[in-house]
Amino acid sequence: MKKILVANRGEIALRIMKTARAMGLQVVAIYSEADRNAPHVRFADEAICVGPPPSSQSYLLGDKIISIAKELGVDGIHPGYGFLSENANFAKAVTDAGITFIGPSPAAIEVMGSKLAAKDAVKDYGIPMVPGVDEAIDDIPEAKKIAAEIGYPILIKASAGGGGKGMRIVENEAEFESQMNRAISEAVSAFGDGAVFIEKYIGSPRHIEIQILADQHGNTVHLFERECSIQRRHQKVVEEAPSAVLTPAIRKAMGEAAIKVAEACDYIGAGTVEFLLDENLNFYFLEMNTRLQVEHPVTELITGLDLVEQQILVARGEKLAFRQEDLQINGHALELRVYAEDPMDNFLPSIGTLSRYRAPEGEGIRLDSGYEEGMEIPIHYDPMIAKLVTYAPSRAAAIQKMKQAIEEFELEGIASTLPFGQFVLNHEAFTSGQFDTHFVKHYFQPENIKQDQQVEAEIAAKLAINLLDVEQKKLKVPVLSTATWRENR
Ligand code: ADP
Repeated sequence: MKKILVANRGEIALRIMKTARAMGLQVVAIYSEADRNAPHVRFADEAICVGPPPSSQSYLLGDKIISIAKELGVDGIHPGYGFLSENANFAKAVTDAGITFIGPSPAAIEVMGSKLAAKDAVKDYGIPMVPGVDEAIDDIPEAKKIAAEIGYPILIKASAGGGGKGMRIVENEAEFESQMNRAISEAVSAFGDGAVFIEKYIGSPRHIEIQILADQHGNTVHLFERECSIQRRHQKVVEEAPSAVLTPAIRKAMGEAAIKVAEACDYIGAGTVEFLLDENLNFYFLEMNTRLQVEHPVTELITGLDLVEQQILVARGEKLAFRQEDLQINGHALELRVYAEDPMDNFLPSIGTLSRYRAPEGEGIRLDSGYEEGMEIPIHYDPMIAKLVTYAPSRAAAIQKMKQAIEEFELEGIASTLPFGQFVLNHEAFTSGQFDTHFVKHYFQPENIKQDQQVEAEIAAKLAINLLDVEQKKLKVPVLSTATWRENR
C-alpha cells in the first residue's frame, strides 16, 4: 500500500493522514465545498472536492469517491468514523474496485450494523446479554406480554439504531402502545427500517466498551476498556481509560467476551464491543461498532499503540506484532469532546466563527482537532470541533491535567462543551468514580456553569482591583476612570 484516500473530514481525517504519512504513505483528501480551507485538505498530498456541503452530496457519495480513488491510483481507503464507515455496500464496492478497504469485511459490517443480527450472531458464544427479545416485534399484545415478563421499565430500541437515536423508555403498560408506535415511526424516518425490539431498561448502567484488534491470521486481542458513561442524549462527551470501577477479573471477563464477539463475525481490524455494566458489576453485550471509534485516543495513550497504524498494518495483511499477554495498561487517559454546542441551552448546536482558538499544549496533553482560528463551524456536519485528551500516571493526575488544559483553552465565537467538561471534572460523582449514564440528568443544570462563570468573573474582578490598587500605590498618582480621561482630553 503506497497511497491512501481518507473518506472523511475534520479531526479524524487529519489524525488518520498524520499516521499514514508517518508510515511513508501518500495521502489523498476529499472535501465538500464547505471544507475547502480545512486543515485536512491542506495537509494532504492531493485533495479533491466531491461536491456541495450537504453530506448526501459529498462525503456520502461512495461511487464518486471510489472513482476518484481509482483515477489517482489509490490503493487503500480509510473511512474514519461516521459517513461511509459502517456501510457494507461501500466496503464491498471498494474491494470490488481492487482497492483495500481499511476496515472489516462487508459481512461483518452488515451483521453488526443490525442490533438484532448482532445478538443472533453472538448467541451461541455464551456472552451475557441484556434480558429481552432477540427478534423484531410488531404484534402489540404479544409485545406487552413479553414486556410484562421482563418487567418495567423497558426500552424499545430500533434494530438499525445508532448515535443514540431510536430508543424509547416505557415506564408502564399504559404507555406501551404509544411509545412503541413512536419508536417505529422514529426508526422508519431515521433509518428507513422500522424493526424494533425490547430490552430490559437497566436503571443505573455504565457504558463500558472494549477495544479489539484482529489480524487476517486468526489472532484477536483486546486493548482493555474505555469508560463512556458521561453522555448527553445517549451520546458520549467524556471518556476515560481505564475505568475507575473495573476489577482485573471483570476486565479479563469483558475482554474475553469482546474477543468472542469479534470472532463470531470473523472480525478483522480495529473494532469496539460495547457493554452496559449494572450496579452489581454484571456486564451485558450491547452492540459492536465496526470502525475506529471517536474516543480511540484514550486507548492509544494507555497502551502505547497507534490504532490507525495497526489498522493499516492489518489491512496490508501483516500479523499482529504482540499477543494478549504482551499488552498492559500504563497510566490513565481522559478525553473531552469539544463540541460546538451550548451546554446552557440543552446542548443545542452553537453556530458561528471560531474567532479565537488557542489550544493548550504541554506534556500529557493531546489535541485532535479539525479546525483553526477564524474558521466557521459548518452546520452540515457533526458539531465536534476537537478532542482534548490528557494522560498522566494516575486518574487524579489526568483529571488535574484536564482541568488545567480546559482553563488554558482559549475558545471564543461559539459556545462549547469546555465549561461542561470543567463541571464534570469538578464533580464529586466523577472524581469518586461513582457515576452512571444518568450523570447529566442527575447532576447537571445550566445554572452550574453560570455559577462557575460568575465565581470566575468575581475572582477575576477582585484580582483586577487588587492589581489596580498595587499599581496605584506604585505610581502614587490617582488613576483616572476612562470617562474622566475622555473628558480631560
Ligand atoms: P446506539 O447504537 O444508538 O449508540 P446503544 O445500544 O449503543 O445505541 O446505546 C447507547 C446508549 O443508550 C448506552 O450507552 C446507554 O446509555 C443507553 N442504553 C442502551 N441500552 C440500554 C438499556 N438496555 N438500558 C439502559 N440504557 C441503555
